[in-house]
Amino acid sequence: MAAAALAMSYKQEQREHYDTKAELKRLKDKYDYFWPRKIMMLFGAPGAGKGTQGPNITKTLGLPQLSTGDMLREAVSHGTPLGIKAQEAMASGSLVTDDLVIGIISDRIQEPDCGAGFILDGFPRTIAQAEALDELLIQTGERVNLILAFEVPEDVLEERICGRWMHKGSGRSYHVKFNPPKAMKLDAKQVPITGTMNDDETGEALYQRADDTKSALVKRLSDYNNLTTPLLDHYDKAHIVKRINGGLPIKQVTSQVMLAMSKKHMKH
Ligand code: ADP
Ligand code: ADP
Repeated sequence: MAAAALAMSYKQEQREHYDTKAELKRLKDKYDYFWPRKIMMLFGAPGAGKGTQGPNITKTLGLPQLSTGDMLREAVSHGTPLGIKAQEAMASGSLVTDDLVIGIISDRIQEPDCGAGFILDGFPRTIAQAEALDELLIQTGERVNLILAFEVPEDVLEERICGRWMHKGSGRSYHVKFNPPKAMKLDAKQVPITGTMNDDETGEALYQRADDTKSALVKRLSDYNNLTTPLLDHYDKAHIVKRINGGLPIKQVTSQVMLAMSKKHMKH
């Protein structure tokens, strides 16, 4: 083939490439402009499985999981002014003030990665937070579209919380018995050897949260029952709550989550 013909075919290929890119951009702009964001919420007691199931939703729908607990822990570990304010309440298992978390979330949901939607995890936790969220979303004509409420018997939660190990960078959680990291080795007393508790994906060391103790759990559960569960009544009125049996093994919970998110299942 002559050089000129080759150059022509190359040019044509390039044009097609740019046409596809332009078409993709047009589609993206269309969704950004006209479609409401998918705003989901994971609801459940400490240890109910929110942090375990969230990443599956992120992988499937590409929405970021916004965990106020992870954001606050990050602030505490960096000693930021926010972290200093939150530290004491968090260590004892108490809630931090509503203003603090409302401020964090209102900033975070304006970030570009929330453009198609987001998954709230651990927020709202009080009626005041739920009302502030509703008001915030109304300003842009939006509202929470789907709540996955994980129901787990209380007597299961202590074993889950006390056996939990976390990866700091990603918020991924593991469990010595129910979801051990691949590298885990046990000593003669069947206790995990700390040096072997590493993240499956990065190989980095895992850690145990300072508030994942039996005593802090008592306070966290009483706050959950008194202050947070009333939110379900608030959202039930909008028919957006899907209940999930979170007491089943992890994979079975994942199947329920995927089903609850399907369009077919959205009908009331
Ligand atoms: P939450 O984010 O709701 O506080 P996590 O997802 O971190 O809870 O789960 C708490 C602990 O229980 C973790 O160690 C996790 O590996 C384990 N876990 C999560 N879901 C299940 C389940 N369905 N069965 C058994 N253990 C689970
Ligand atoms: P849990 O495992 O109890 O669900 P999180 O990781 O969600 O824990 O939160 C850890 C701690 O961070 C809470 O005990 C509380 O001190 C603080 N926190 C997180 N989210 C909120 C919130 N929405 N309102 C008040 N305090 C919060």
